[in-house]
This record gives sequence, structure tokens and C-alpha cells, in this order.
Amino acid sequence: MFNWALAEWKTQYEAGGKPNAMALKKQFNAIRREQFPWSYEVTKCAVEGAFRDVAVAFKNFFEGRKAARRTGYPKFKSKKRSRQAFYLANDKFTVGDHWIDVPKLGRVNMAEKLRFAGKILSARISKTADWWFVSITVEMSDVVPENHCPPVGLDVGLNRLATLSDGRRYENQRPLRHLLKRLRRLNKELARRTKGGKNWQKTKSKLARLHYRIACLRADLLHKLTTEVAKTSGLVAVEDLHVKGLLQNRCLSRSFFDAALGTLLDLLESKVPRAGGTLVKVGRFYPSSQLCHCCGLRRADLTLKERIYLCTNPACGYTGDRDENASLNILQEALRLVGP
Ligand SMILES: [Zn+2]
Repeated sequence: MFNWALAEWKTQYEAGGKPNAMALKKQFNAIRREQFPWSYEVTKCAVEGAFRDVAVAFKNFFEGRKAARRTGYPKFKSKKRSRQAFYLANDKFTVGDHWIDVPKLGRVNMAEKLRFAGKILSARISKTADWWFVSITVEMSDVVPENHCPPVGLDVGLNRLATLSDGRRYENQRPLRHLLKRLRRLNKELARRTKGGKNWQKTKSKLARLHYRIACLRADLLHKLTTEVAKTSGLVAVEDLHVKGLLQNRCLSRSFFDAALGTLLDLLESKVPRAGGTLVKVGRFYPSSQLCHCCGLRRADLTLKERIYLCTNPACGYTGDRDENASLNILQEALRLVGP
């Protein structure tokens, strides 16, 4: 349906017309029974949603071009490559305690019940690595709680994922590094199979599940960390990292990718304000790891190997964890930026 709508949209646009989802749907319905009788086997939503999706894809493309973002031109979907998904309008499904009623499919068990109470707006059913998921949009009141928690500085890194100025530490679990061996073995296994064959399919889905598992492990860690930080702190100070630049470092790019520091910052950016706090980004050229947080002395000679910060000022003599010192500096700098 999506490909049909996209092709039709393109032809009409190139002929100087102004295609829209409604008109296309009408046009499609006129030939549906004759040319696409199989489309009656699935819910009406799956068919109608495709037209919506095409319209959204074009809207994103044109808006992206205006905002100089890189949103690609809508592409045709492929049975092999594309993520399989369809839309359900809110009047077409019912959610129960542990089930969902999908039209033409019946009652489907859910692994987890819907955690939010509110008006259900729509749903989308999709497939990832042989598992089926439903994401349900629920309308809820947007109440930001009052936040009287203390401010905190957060230093992110590869040796330790996050070090907080109040002493909390989160280790980097490196899910990709741990499962890399298994990933390589499966990739080799896939290469040995006949492409497109039954065993090739089996290995391919095994590989997809492993990739998904790695992504889940990473997301779980990041979500737990960011939720905890957002709920327990008022002001959160972080370093404004140049993530794209870091990923270009060939020796460390896998580690950076595995730690997903960019996602960590994105999550904080969305969660901290929702918990009533403020996120302050400290400029990326601020030498947070070189300064001593007690006396302000700067040690430009500090190497990456030194995990303990030793202050060379005889009057100060501070010694402490390198990342903790950096997080304290980030906090001080953020408080200075915000002002009294
Ligand atoms: Zn010092």
C-alpha cells in the first residue's frame, strides 16, 4: 500500500498536481476490489495508515529541507529490509488487562500491561527481530512536579560511564564489547550459509535478536541512570560533548558508540525538565578535568592515564578521583553560568 501510494504521489507531483492522502485513498478504493483483493484480509487501518505514512514522510522531507536537516526523500519499502509496522486508530482496538484486541486478528496477549491511564489516541504495531511490539499513544496531563533537590554535576566518560559530584558512580557495562565475540561468530555463520536459504534465515534472525539484545542492554542502563539522576537532582550540569567528533576517533569510536554518550545527553535533556529540574550544558572547551576544584589550579600536563587527580599546589594538596574532580568542576561552572 505504501509503495503504491508513494509511486502514485510521485507521478502526480511530477505531472504538476498536488497529491494528498485523502484523494489518493479515494483513488485507491476505486480500484481496490479489483486489483488488491488481498488487502481485505487485514484491518482497514493497515491499509489507510499507509496513506497517512506517505503524507507524513513527504511532510517531514519538505520541513526537513526548510530547516536544513537531512531528512531523506521518501523511499519505497522492502519486504526484506524495511521495518514492518502498521497503524491502528483508537476506535479500532481495545486494550485490556493483559491483552489487546486487534481487528481481523483477534485477542493478542501482551507481555506487559499498559502502565498509563489516560485517553488512548492510537497505536502502532511493529516487528523487531522476530518480536512483535505495540506502542500505544496515551494522552496524559502534563504536570511538572516541584523540585527541591540539590544540584549535581555529571562527568561522562568511557572508563566510567557517569560520575556524579555527590559521589554516585555508574560503571560502563559495554554491552557490545561483551557480546562482540558472539556477534562475530554469528556473522561468520551467516557468511557460510547459502544466501536466502532456510538456515541462512535462521542465522539471520539469531543475529537480529542479538543486535536487539545489545541495544536493549544499553538502553536499559541509560534509562535507569537518567531517570534516577532526573528524579534526585534539581540542576544537572553536564559537559556539552561533541559526539560526532568523538565517533571519528578510530581507536575509540567503538567504545564511544557502545557507551552511547549522545543518547545519554538526549535522555537527560528530555527527562530533567519533566522532573522539574534544569539541565545546564558547560562549554566543551572548559577544562573540567584539568582544574582542581578546591583551589582552581590548572594542570595542563594531566595525562589520560592519571585516574587520580593530584593537586600540585602545596597549599591545597587535594587528591581525589579524576572524574569526581571533573564533575565538581562542571557543577561549579554551571552554577557560575546560571548565576545567583
Ligand atoms: Zn588544589
